Amino acid sequence: MDDIARRRKIIERGNNVSEIDELKKKLAMACRMLFVAELVDYSGHISVRIPGADRFLIHGHPVSRAEVTPDDIVTVDRDGKRVEGKWNPPSELPMHIRTYRARDDVQSVAHLHNRMVVVLSMADRPLIPASNPGGLFGPGPIPVYQDPALIHTNEQGDAVARTLGSADAAILRGHGSIVAGNSIEWTFAACIDLEESATRLYYASLLGPIRYYTDDELQRVSKGRRRMPVIQKIWDHYIAKARLAGFMEGL
Ligand SMILES: [Zn+2]
Repeated sequence: MDDIARRRKIIERGNNVSEIDELKKKLAMACRMLFVAELVDYSGHISVRIPGADRFLIHGHPVSRAEVTPDDIVTVDRDGKRVEGKWNPPSELPMHIRTYRARDDVQSVAHLHNRMVVVLSMADRPLIPASNPGGLFGPGPIPVYQDPALIHTNEQGDAVARTLGSADAAILRGHGSIVAGNSIEWTFAACIDLEESATRLYYASLLGPIRYYTDDELQRVSKGRRRMPVIQKIWDHYIAKARLAGFMEGL
């Protein structure tokens, strides 16, 4: 048995409790931090792949995103079936599951109902990098999934995954966005940057034509923005912000 197979067996037996508990805690923190950042409200979600297993963690459907605990996290399999946990998963789970199935590189997926990204999509304004938070995305406009219906079926989930392609984010017109990354921290930071870049683009558009980044500018900004210390700094800042706001109790 090779290392990966052995590891998978350990995880499937449920013996690797500390690693999974740690992921559940981190996911609960991310939910509350997304709430504090006003990127999710009573809806919206973030999930993570259990390393080495074809299973995923996501918070329960009815739980307020402001007070998710590790105990509220459910485990689902690659068909979206709940295999552990006390709640049903969110109804738009197919968006997560089908993205994981399409992208081996993705470890964490978030779905936001984020205001400014939606506002731009309502006016058919492309979200092209024109400020440093936008440097995490591009080059070119972030892809847009045109159907505003909620993502409740595998077919819809596949269509969203196709729109996302190899990108880090896609906009769901009139609905929100999907963000995919290689860790909870990365996906969380990208959620912050996505909404911030949309907000700046919106305000700048009130003043006149947008001066988008050139390929060279984007390349240099993106290089700095994608560094792990920057991602970690954003993550740590929002932990502090959520803690100061009183939203991290028990975590
Ligand atoms: Zn949604």
